[in-house]
Amino acid sequence: MWVRRMCRLLGCKEASLPVRYLGIPLGANPRLVKTWKPVIDKVEDKLSLWKAKTLNKAGKLVLIKSVLNSLPIYYLSLYKMPKTVAEKLISLQRRFLWSTEDGRHGVPLVKWEIVMAPKQVGGLGVGDAVIRNTALLFKWWWRFSKEDCPLWKKVVCSCNSMNPTVMLQGQPAPIRGGPWRDICQLQISELQLREKMISGLSMELDMFPRLFSVSTLQGSVIGDCGFWDGLEWIWSFQWRRELFQWELDLVHQLHEMLQSVKPTNEKEDGVVWKFDKTEVYSTASFGKVLHAEVLPEEITSYSFTRTVWKGLVPPRVELLTWFVLVGRVNTKDRLCRFRVIPQQDNRCVLCDKAEETVFHLFLECETTWKVWCAWLRALGRQWSLPGTLKDHFESWTKLSVRKVDRKRWFLGFFAVIWTTWLERNGRLFRDHTSSMEDIINRSFRYSEEWSGVDPFGC
Ligand SMILES: [Zn+2]
Repeated sequence: MWVRRMCRLLGCKEASLPVRYLGIPLGANPRLVKTWKPVIDKVEDKLSLWKAKTLNKAGKLVLIKSVLNSLPIYYLSLYKMPKTVAEKLISLQRRFLWSTEDGRHGVPLVKWEIVMAPKQVGGLGVGDAVIRNTALLFKWWWRFSKEDCPLWKKVVCSCNSMNPTVMLQGQPAPIRGGPWRDICQLQISELQLREKMISGLSMELDMFPRLFSVSTLQGSVIGDCGFWDGLEWIWSFQWRRELFQWELDLVHQLHEMLQSVKPTNEKEDGVVWKFDKTEVYSTASFGKVLHAEVLPEEITSYSFTRTVWKGLVPPRVELLTWFVLVGRVNTKDRLCRFRVIPQQDNRCVLCDKAEETVFHLFLECETTWKVWCAWLRALGRQWSLPGTLKDHFESWTKLSVRKVDRKRWFLGFFAVIWTTWLERNGRLFRDHTSSMEDIINRSFRYSEEWSGVDPFGC
């Protein structure tokens, strides 16, 4: 009755929880999958299969990335995403990327971890919503230590009986449920990594681990480790127990080392974030460190592919080249393995002399080799058949020190790969065979087209 009267008086409507405020359902339980339904629906809608049919893989990757980046950031920066929601998001992305032209499920070419990993380390750079979520939630750890006592901190501390002057890692997790408990108990894939991230927020005392372990000042700022005697700073450490003689020797060493350190009393002690040059926390730097730690072993062997993404050629050409370099193209040997085509149908369509593998098709095949040789002649080089496509790519693209020449070599590499793939598909699917001269000329034409100028002109 009172509420209704007040509503009339104030001219507003009565509502019940959960209500939406700035797009967030206030009062809804973020641990329930249904709270996340609007997010899942949005992704499902954007990554619908009819769009998959009209896009090539490079286009699909762009769309997946943009959808992930536009996930409501306020959801992710306040609530921990339940595992089922994260898995659902990934399954939608996977289905979208690997679906075939007729909308059916396709065979994945690489593991999803590799698709998510940053391009710099050899992945396809799609990003990981879970890591993003964790990075955004961890930002509260940073803000909690950095911001003196704004209103939000007062409210959080009074609701959860927390001490605003102690860093989050030094406080017991709130007993009350809700977003703050999730934030304080943040799981960062494994305990060791969590420690690493937390130490990223403070000073690291890894030179005297023994002393650190018996110190009562763990997690303290420098200001707590001593006092000012007039203008002179006196270090004063406190220990959990009496120290042994050999530990006292360590303390002596520590004091000797600290003699050259002159703290100033003009500035307040503060927390820095050591994984970013600016020493300020950023979700990007957090993501980078975490990604690097959780990468599958396989990917470290892919890191040489990061130079593919220079934007010299259309994205679909870059992407095909990446798949070629990591040996994951749907060549006939692969299709035979997955029983998509019969075993006897595994011959290379360019020479009809060997099994069609990635290495054969793009390098070893006599037809392709002639195209590579035409480029070598044009660039004035001698070459011998390298053992792997990786070796070939690395030596081919590192040959010249001059920037302009390097670009030519890069364009040539892309052009030969692209032309070979088109010729192979033309013969296979359209029964169209070009002459050797045509194939070579076409590769030069592509390179010219991409560079906008004649690669061998002045
Ligand atoms: Zn061949």
